[in-house]
Amino acid sequence: MPKFSVVGVDLAGVPHRPTGMCSFRFSNRFAYGPFSQVLVKRGMCRYFEEVCRMMQKKWIVGILAISVFFLSAMDLKGESKGVESGQRYDELVIRNVVVIDGKGTPPRGPVDIILKGNTIHLVQSADLRPEAYRENLHVLDGSGLYALPGLINIHAHIHDNRGGVPIPFEYLYKLWLSCGITTVRDVGSNYDKTIQERQKSQEGSVVAPRIFLYMTAWGRNPEEMKQSVREIKRLGGDGVKIFGMDQDIMEAALTQAHELGFRVAHHVGVEETDAWDDAALGVTSIEHWYGVPDAALQGSQNFAHEYNYSNESDRFRYAGRLWREADPDKLKLVLRTLVDKGVSWCPTFVIYEANRDLLRAKNQPWFKDCLHSTLEKYFEPNPSNHGSYHWDWTTTDEVFWRKNYKIWMKAVREFANMGGIVGAGEDAGYIYMLYGFSLIREMELHQEAGFHPIDVIKHATSNNAQILGQEKALGRIRNGYLADIILVDGNPLKNLKYLYPTGVMELEQGKLVKKGGTKWTIKDGYVYHAPTLLEDVKTLVSQAKDSLQN
Ligand SMILES: [Zn+2]
Repeated sequence: MPKFSVVGVDLAGVPHRPTGMCSFRFSNRFAYGPFSQVLVKRGMCRYFEEVCRMMQKKWIVGILAISVFFLSAMDLKGESKGVESGQRYDELVIRNVVVIDGKGTPPRGPVDIILKGNTIHLVQSADLRPEAYRENLHVLDGSGLYALPGLINIHAHIHDNRGGVPIPFEYLYKLWLSCGITTVRDVGSNYDKTIQERQKSQEGSVVAPRIFLYMTAWGRNPEEMKQSVREIKRLGGDGVKIFGMDQDIMEAALTQAHELGFRVAHHVGVEETDAWDDAALGVTSIEHWYGVPDAALQGSQNFAHEYNYSNESDRFRYAGRLWREADPDKLKLVLRTLVDKGVSWCPTFVIYEANRDLLRAKNQPWFKDCLHSTLEKYFEPNPSNHGSYHWDWTTTDEVFWRKNYKIWMKAVREFANMGGIVGAGEDAGYIYMLYGFSLIREMELHQEAGFHPIDVIKHATSNNAQILGQEKALGRIRNGYLADIILVDGNPLKNLKYLYPTGVMELEQGKLVKKGGTKWTIKDGYVYHAPTLLEDVKTLVSQAKDSLQN
């Protein structure tokens, strides 16, 4: 029996891979001949494989199928057409994709997704007929790609500078979008600027994710705090961020925020208030984790007498010894109470990862091309920069932190098991964490915490949408939802690393090939070619390096 191999080269010269089992192999001359381009059009390999599977007398029927296939393929208009990066269309068809929704359900497909403007108009079974969509002007071929809701980064900072040195918004935005992030919740930035940026993003006049702006409320006493929350309303904030709270001031903040219909994110520190207050006063989400083990201590933490909270080296060293001091029974009660009171948890595992492995954090492979010199400088140990505290950092500190992570991750898992909403955010721009890439690393750490990748994707999509109060509009691929969708080259349930725009190496038919990355990021109906955005990032980075040398 002849052996043939269905290996094509698509129109962009990228090797094409059949989507399933195939019993037939063509000779190589077909693979690189004129037919190769025909073969790969619009998922026909999958069609062909189906035919093969159904038939018993494989080679005779196979030859027939090949003939039919070629004839019909000649006539196909299956490749992408009429799609330009940065455009939004009255109607756009995304053909032949497998969907992983943000709801915690398994993949399904192939489906076609029809967008109208900024809305998901219809999700339906894929129409693989040659004549389907022939009349449509704008079609994106998603063959072999996985469609996910655009990722939401629930803990972001839209930095306009690092350590007083300006950094372009474009750099952050394009990193986020190239990593598949279509929404960020800003929890601290230059608000005058970020308000304008949010406006531009809404209008589509800037290449940027959706922006939700949680402004920091501050006051030296309850009355000042209330005024601050009212001011946030006047300025047009989407929510309130608080940190460093005494109990009476926090109560004032929450009372005023609830009156004005605000959601509240609490970055708890080592302070008077902790998770008990978050539960009692109706905080929407706990950011990071401080305040949770604190609420389960018997008395105070066992600090050394020389400890000084204002010294970040002290602060982060002793944070690494906190979880082990939490009383396990009391901790369960804390978690139970948070869940009962509807407080969500955005753990941001990633932002502390340098503490358990500094070498890893400092040598992330994407730093070479994607780390802006301004950010690189900011990351270096420096007591005046928040989060740049890794001087005198010891092996002992890392060992403590590794154990710290184990208990912390178990607590987050238990919290979710009890019904708590876990969100995913990165807090990048500090402690060796690069915008965008860090959210994907955060997702990997959620898997390390014991969550199935389906649930991890849920955390970064529909859970985050729920924390924002946007669960009816964002975080799912569903009729009527906003058109925030990413098309990923590979199944992230098999490997979350497919989400990294730098991709992964895989062995296919004896050859190493690069796979992965978000190919298309669609935000509010605007279609962006994600690899091009990453190239733009690299250009910004190299320009910044050049200007340093001159
Ligand atoms: Zn933060």
